[in-house]
Amino acid sequence: MKQIRLKAMAKINLGLDVVRKREDGYHEVRMIMQTVNLYDKLFISASPEPGIRLKTNLGFLPVNEDNLIYKAAKLLIDEFEIKDGVEIQLQKFIPVAAGMAGGSTDAATTLIGMNKLFDLGLSRRQLMERGVKLGADVPYCVTGGTALSEGIGEILTRLPDVPRGYVLVAKPGVNVSTKFVYGNLKLDQIGKHPDIDAQMEAIRRQDFHEMADLMGNVLETVTIPAHPVIAQIKDLMIKEGAANAMMSGSGPTVFGLYSNHRQAEAACECLRESGLAKMVFLTTFIGQNPYV
Ligand code: ATP
Repeated sequence: MKQIRLKAMAKINLGLDVVRKREDGYHEVRMIMQTVNLYDKLFISASPEPGIRLKTNLGFLPVNEDNLIYKAAKLLIDEFEIKDGVEIQLQKFIPVAAGMAGGSTDAATTLIGMNKLFDLGLSRRQLMERGVKLGADVPYCVTGGTALSEGIGEILTRLPDVPRGYVLVAKPGVNVSTKFVYGNLKLDQIGKHPDIDAQMEAIRRQDFHEMADLMGNVLETVTIPAHPVIAQIKDLMIKEGAANAMMSGSGPTVFGLYSNHRQAEAACECLRESGLAKMVFLTTFIGQNPYV
């Protein structure tokens, strides 16, 4: 039986601004998205028995149509009238409900894997068009790398790869709902918005420290008061030599950027010992998805 094995990569936001709330309730954003080398593993195979069968190593995740992987597979099965069934195994390593686009990247990777497995001939653009039906971050996750994301997240502009650096990722033991964060965001009370244009310019100039200095996430104004441990982790990362530290997406994951590997390793150790975070990873930036 043919099996496709793929990595579904996580993202962080180097900058996250909310520009306005639309009349339909969606928020318009400007975000700099960046893939990091932290991933789920997906194993997808065809089976003569129709239907979608999903298994995962995390008992609390849904394995029915509530899982984005299931939704992505079903979308293509319905559109292309695929008669075979699919067996999908998910090994989850990306923290769940953490602001790292775990579900979105699994969905994007399922689209890519199904396209290959069943020879559907969809281009990258066509995969992205299907992805947006599953979630605003899914089109970005199809390509990954460094990108400016606008609109509700679906308007993407590719940016040059960021300068080399080390990313310390820490997920405290609290869960945050994206809906809660956007629902409690008070746009008129935000004093300082991140300068996304200047940050893009720093990336173009390959200026690591300027890029880090310009990090900012307006969603911190909601998530940090609800979970002060986020600020404690940021402080620890900066005290341990991070060029800067920030919450990713709607949180609660925090990341710190380091230009020096030894310093990043020492900070990682210190963070583990502090007990402030439930999951701690030291990783790197990576470029665009090689599979599409
Ligand atoms: P984002 O960064 O896009 O806001 P997130 O990190 O906040 O994403 P996810 O990890 O994608 O959030 O999961 C949020 C919820 O979606 C989970 O509570 C889970 O029940 C549901 N979900 C559905 N499919 C998946 C999946 N494949 N992986 C993780 N969660 C999933």
